[in-house]
Amino acid sequence: MENIKGIIFDVDGTLIEWKTTILLPGVKEWFEREAKKYKISFCSNQGGVGCHYWMKEGNWGDYTTLPDEASVENTMESINTQLGGNYPWFTCYAYISTRGKPAPTPSHVTHWMQEWDLAYRKPEPTMLLLAACSLKLLPDEIMVVGDREEDHKAAQRAGMAFMWADDFFNEGEW
Ligand SMILES: [Mg+2]
Repeated sequence: MENIKGIIFDVDGTLIEWKTTILLPGVKEWFEREAKKYKISFCSNQGGVGCHYWMKEGNWGDYTTLPDEASVENTMESINTQLGGNYPWFTCYAYISTRGKPAPTPSHVTHWMQEWDLAYRKPEPTMLLLAACSLKLLPDEIMVVGDREEDHKAAQRAGMAFMWADDFFNEGEW
């Protein structure tokens, strides 16, 4: 792992507890101890946003508990503040149901945006590769840390190393 120069973290279930801005155990400590040694970025699927507008514009279900773009931005800012950094973050708002049905792009999105493209959503590698570009690193210089198979698969497809969040933050190897 000596060649690892950058780390891309998933967000929900990796850095914070689901649907909160509460950092998971070990996260703050790791950043205080190690973050200066690496270039860091966050990559997060936020399909809840796509689902929010699907419900709202289709007039079904209670969308009010689901995030919109502004609440995702607030969450990311809160994480950066808590970790004392200004790490670049990337999100995908496009949503696909567990049965494989993609949500329509909401009406306020009038031109193509990467955030609203399913091809940008993990387990596709695109978001990770864009983060790598912004960090000015090659895929094989990056480790992805995540809590789900979609993170694992995206890392494999991007040609990046991968580690499960539990192992990364709790085993003290780092
Ligand atoms: Mg996650």
